[in-house]
Amino acid sequence: MKEPSTEESLVMISALQHYLYCPRQCALIHVEGVWSENYLTASGRVMHERVDRRGAETRRDIHLATSLRLVSHRLGVAGVADMVEFHRVEAAAYGDGTVDGAILPGRVGWWKPYPVEYKRGAPKSHRADEVQLCAQAMCLEEMLGVSVKEGALYYGEMRRRTAVAFDDVLRKLTEDTARGVHELLSSHKTPEACWTKGCRACSLLDVCRPEDFSARDSVRQWMRNQIEAAGI
Ligand code: SF4
Repeated sequence: MKEPSTEESLVMISALQHYLYCPRQCALIHVEGVWSENYLTASGRVMHERVDRRGAETRRDIHLATSLRLVSHRLGVAGVADMVEFHRVEAAAYGDGTVDGAILPGRVGWWKPYPVEYKRGAPKSHRADEVQLCAQAMCLEEMLGVSVKEGALYYGEMRRRTAVAFDDVLRKLTEDTARGVHELLSSHKTPEACWTKGCRACSLLDVCRPEDFSARDSVRQWMRNQIEAAGI
Protein backbone atom coordinates (compact mmCIF):
# COMPACT_ATOMS: atom_id res chain seq x y z
CA MET A 1 0.00 0.00 0.00
CA LYS A 2 1.26 3.47 -0.90
CA GLU A 3 2.41 5.30 2.23
CA PRO A 4 0.47 8.50 2.92
CA SER A 5 2.83 11.45 3.21
CA THR A 6 0.93 13.65 5.67
CA GLU A 7 -1.08 13.34 8.87
CA GLU A 8 -4.00 14.92 7.02
CA SER A 9 -4.19 11.94 4.68
CA LEU A 10 -4.91 9.53 7.55
CA VAL A 11 -8.50 8.27 7.72
CA MET A 12 -10.39 7.18 10.82
CA ILE A 13 -10.25 3.46 11.59
CA SER A 14 -14.03 3.58 12.04
CA ALA A 15 -14.31 4.58 8.34
CA LEU A 16 -13.23 1.05 7.42
CA GLN A 17 -16.19 -0.37 9.32
CA HIS A 18 -18.56 2.18 7.78
CA TYR A 19 -17.21 1.42 4.27
CA LEU A 20 -17.78 -2.32 4.59
CA TYR A 21 -21.27 -1.71 5.97
CA CYS A 22 -22.09 0.66 3.10
CA PRO A 23 -19.75 2.88 1.02
CA ARG A 24 -22.46 5.55 0.87
CA GLN A 25 -22.68 5.60 4.67
CA CYS A 26 -18.89 5.99 4.80
CA ALA A 27 -18.98 8.95 2.38
CA LEU A 28 -21.92 10.62 4.12
CA ILE A 29 -20.06 10.50 7.44
CA HIS A 30 -16.45 11.06 6.37
CA VAL A 31 -16.88 13.25 3.27
CA GLU A 32 -20.09 15.17 4.00
CA GLY A 33 -19.79 15.22 7.80
CA VAL A 34 -23.29 13.83 8.36
CA TRP A 35 -23.99 12.04 11.61
CA SER A 36 -27.30 10.90 12.96
CA GLU A 37 -27.86 8.83 16.05
CA ASN A 38 -30.46 6.10 16.30
CA TYR A 39 -31.12 3.73 19.20
CA LEU A 40 -28.42 1.37 17.93
CA THR A 41 -25.65 3.97 17.82
CA ALA A 42 -26.88 5.49 21.11
CA SER A 43 -26.62 2.19 22.98
CA GLY A 44 -23.26 1.57 21.37
CA ARG A 45 -22.05 5.00 22.46
CA VAL A 46 -23.17 4.36 26.06
CA MET A 47 -21.24 1.09 26.03
CA HIS A 48 -18.11 2.86 24.78
CA GLU A 49 -18.47 5.57 27.42
CA ARG A 50 -18.52 2.87 30.11
CA VAL A 51 -15.29 1.45 28.72
CA ASP A 52 -13.72 4.89 28.52
CA ARG A 53 -14.48 5.60 32.19
CA ARG A 54 -12.49 2.62 33.42
CA GLY A 55 -9.09 4.21 32.73
CA ALA A 56 -5.75 2.38 32.80
CA GLU A 57 -5.05 -0.21 35.46
CA THR A 58 -2.91 -3.28 36.06
CA ARG A 59 -4.31 -6.59 37.34
CA ARG A 60 -1.58 -9.08 38.11
CA ASP A 61 -0.03 -9.89 34.73
CA ILE A 62 -2.46 -7.86 32.61
CA HIS A 63 -2.20 -4.11 32.07
CA LEU A 64 -5.39 -2.51 30.71
CA ALA A 65 -5.14 0.63 28.58
CA THR A 66 -8.41 2.27 27.52
CA SER A 67 -8.96 4.87 24.80
CA LEU A 68 -5.50 4.27 23.39
CA ARG A 69 -4.61 6.41 20.36
CA LEU A 70 -3.47 4.37 17.38
CA VAL A 71 -1.92 5.09 14.01
CA SER A 72 -0.65 3.12 11.02
CA HIS A 73 1.10 5.07 8.27
CA ARG A 74 1.24 1.93 6.17
CA LEU A 75 -2.56 1.60 6.14
CA GLY A 76 -3.05 5.36 6.38
CA VAL A 77 -5.41 5.09 9.36
CA ALA A 78 -5.66 6.52 12.87
CA GLY A 79 -8.14 6.12 15.71
CA VAL A 80 -8.72 5.18 19.31
CA ALA A 81 -8.89 1.62 20.65
CA ASP A 82 -11.63 0.90 23.21
CA MET A 83 -9.25 -1.23 25.20
CA VAL A 84 -5.89 -2.86 24.70
CA GLU A 85 -4.88 -5.53 27.18
CA PHE A 86 -1.16 -6.03 27.59
CA HIS A 87 -0.42 -9.56 28.81
CA ARG A 88 2.94 -10.11 30.49
CA VAL A 89 4.88 -12.73 28.49
CA GLU A 90 8.27 -14.23 27.98
CA ALA A 91 8.88 -12.50 24.64
CA ALA A 92 8.56 -15.09 21.90
CA ALA A 93 10.33 -14.60 18.57
CA TYR A 94 8.59 -15.64 15.36
CA GLY A 95 10.15 -16.87 12.12
CA ASP A 96 9.68 -13.48 10.45
CA GLY A 97 11.90 -11.80 13.06
CA THR A 98 9.02 -10.22 15.02
CA VAL A 99 8.27 -10.80 18.70
CA ASP A 100 4.97 -10.89 20.57
CA GLY A 101 6.02 -8.78 23.57
CA ALA A 102 6.72 -5.04 23.72
CA ILE A 103 8.50 -2.94 26.35
CA LEU A 104 6.08 -0.54 28.05
CA PRO A 105 7.26 2.72 29.66
CA GLY A 106 7.64 2.33 33.44
CA ARG A 107 6.98 -1.42 33.41
CA VAL A 108 9.30 -4.36 33.80
CA GLY A 109 9.24 -7.25 31.32
CA TRP A 110 7.55 -7.91 28.01
CA TRP A 111 3.89 -7.20 27.30
CA LYS A 112 1.82 -8.73 24.52
CA PRO A 113 -0.89 -6.38 23.14
CA TYR A 114 -4.40 -7.84 22.81
CA PRO A 115 -6.98 -5.36 21.41
CA VAL A 116 -10.60 -5.67 22.57
CA GLU A 117 -13.40 -3.77 20.83
CA TYR A 118 -16.82 -3.38 22.47
CA LYS A 119 -19.92 -3.71 20.31
CA ARG A 120 -23.60 -3.65 21.06
CA GLY A 121 -25.70 -6.48 19.66
CA ALA A 122 -24.42 -9.80 18.40
CA PRO A 123 -21.87 -11.00 15.82
CA LYS A 124 -22.84 -9.94 12.29
CA SER A 125 -22.86 -11.75 8.96
CA HIS A 126 -20.34 -9.26 7.52
CA ARG A 127 -16.72 -8.78 8.63
CA ALA A 128 -16.79 -5.02 9.36
CA ASP A 129 -16.20 -5.43 13.11
CA GLU A 130 -13.31 -7.84 12.51
CA VAL A 131 -11.71 -5.48 9.99
CA GLN A 132 -11.93 -2.60 12.47
CA LEU A 133 -10.25 -4.75 15.13
CA CYS A 134 -7.61 -6.02 12.69
CA ALA A 135 -6.77 -2.42 11.71
CA GLN A 136 -6.19 -1.71 15.41
CA ALA A 137 -3.89 -4.72 15.63
CA MET A 138 -1.93 -3.61 12.57
CA CYS A 139 -1.55 -0.15 14.14
CA LEU A 140 -0.19 -1.75 17.33
CA GLU A 141 2.24 -3.83 15.30
CA GLU A 142 3.58 -0.76 13.52
CA MET A 143 3.75 1.36 16.69
CA LEU A 144 5.31 -1.24 18.97
CA GLY A 145 7.28 -3.41 16.53
CA VAL A 146 5.50 -6.57 17.62
CA SER A 147 3.35 -9.24 16.02
CA VAL A 148 -0.31 -9.22 17.12
CA LYS A 149 -1.98 -12.49 16.23
CA GLU A 150 -5.28 -12.29 18.11
CA GLY A 151 -7.78 -9.90 19.69
CA ALA A 152 -11.42 -10.05 20.73
CA LEU A 153 -14.82 -8.50 20.05
CA TYR A 154 -17.12 -8.13 23.07
CA TYR A 155 -20.80 -8.18 22.09
CA GLY A 156 -23.20 -6.58 24.59
CA GLU A 157 -26.14 -8.79 23.65
CA MET A 158 -24.17 -11.98 24.29
CA ARG A 159 -22.15 -10.52 27.18
CA ARG A 160 -19.09 -12.41 26.14
CA ARG A 161 -16.03 -12.16 23.97
CA THR A 162 -15.43 -13.68 20.58
CA ALA A 163 -11.76 -14.25 19.78
CA VAL A 164 -10.60 -12.97 16.39
CA ALA A 165 -7.48 -14.39 14.71
CA PHE A 166 -5.65 -11.89 12.50
CA ASP A 167 -4.90 -14.32 9.68
CA ASP A 168 -3.73 -13.49 6.16
CA VAL A 169 -7.28 -13.36 4.75
CA LEU A 170 -8.46 -10.83 7.34
CA ARG A 171 -5.28 -8.75 6.97
CA LYS A 172 -5.73 -8.60 3.19
CA LEU A 173 -9.38 -7.62 3.59
CA THR A 174 -8.30 -4.88 6.01
CA GLU A 175 -5.66 -3.56 3.60
CA ASP A 176 -8.07 -3.66 0.64
CA THR A 177 -10.74 -1.88 2.70
CA ALA A 178 -8.29 0.84 3.79
CA ARG A 179 -7.33 1.34 0.14
CA GLY A 180 -11.01 1.51 -0.86
CA VAL A 181 -11.72 4.11 1.83
CA HIS A 182 -8.80 6.28 0.69
CA GLU A 183 -9.99 6.13 -2.92
CA LEU A 184 -13.57 6.93 -1.91
CA LEU A 185 -12.67 9.85 0.34
CA SER A 186 -10.16 11.35 -2.08
CA SER A 187 -12.80 11.23 -4.86
CA HIS A 188 -15.04 13.52 -2.71
CA LYS A 189 -18.01 11.76 -4.31
CA THR A 190 -20.84 10.15 -2.37
CA PRO A 191 -22.17 6.98 -4.04
CA GLU A 192 -25.88 6.91 -4.77
CA ALA A 193 -28.13 5.02 -2.40
CA CYS A 194 -29.10 1.45 -3.06
CA TRP A 195 -31.54 -0.25 -0.70
CA THR A 196 -30.03 -3.20 1.19
CA LYS A 197 -31.16 -5.15 4.25
CA GLY A 198 -28.62 -3.11 6.26
CA CYS A 199 -30.58 0.09 5.58
CA ARG A 200 -33.19 -0.64 8.24
CA ALA A 201 -30.59 -0.54 11.03
CA CYS A 202 -28.59 2.33 9.50
CA SER A 203 -28.44 5.49 11.61
CA LEU A 204 -28.49 7.56 8.41
CA LEU A 205 -31.70 6.05 7.02
CA ASP A 206 -33.71 9.28 7.40
CA VAL A 207 -30.95 11.41 5.88
CA CYS A 208 -30.08 8.98 3.09
CA ARG A 209 -33.62 8.03 2.01
CA PRO A 210 -32.57 5.02 -0.09
CA GLU A 211 -36.20 4.28 -0.95
CA ASP A 212 -36.32 7.54 -2.96
CA PHE A 213 -33.28 6.44 -4.97
CA SER A 214 -34.76 3.01 -5.48
CA ALA A 215 -38.03 4.55 -6.66
CA ARG A 216 -36.12 6.86 -8.99
CA ASP A 217 -34.09 3.94 -10.33
CA SER A 218 -37.34 2.02 -10.92
CA VAL A 219 -38.67 4.93 -12.97
CA ARG A 220 -35.40 5.09 -14.91
CA GLN A 221 -35.56 1.36 -15.59
CA TRP A 222 -39.20 1.61 -16.67
CA MET A 223 -38.27 4.42 -19.08
CA ARG A 224 -35.37 2.36 -20.44
CA ASN A 225 -37.68 -0.61 -20.96
CA GLN A 226 -40.26 1.58 -22.74
CA ILE A 227 -37.59 3.07 -25.01
CA GLU A 228 -36.17 -0.37 -25.81
CA ALA A 229 -39.66 -1.77 -26.48
CA ALA A 230 -40.41 1.12 -28.82
CA GLY A 231 -37.11 0.52 -30.64
CA ILE A 232 -36.05 4.15 -30.17
S1 SF4 B 1 -29.62 3.94 4.50
FE1 SF4 B 1 -28.77 2.21 3.33
S2 SF4 B 1 -27.89 3.11 1.46
FE2 SF4 B 1 -28.20 4.77 2.94
S3 SF4 B 1 -26.27 5.00 4.00
FE3 SF4 B 1 -27.52 3.61 5.24
S4 SF4 B 1 -27.01 1.53 4.56
FE4 SF4 B 1 -26.24 2.97 3.00
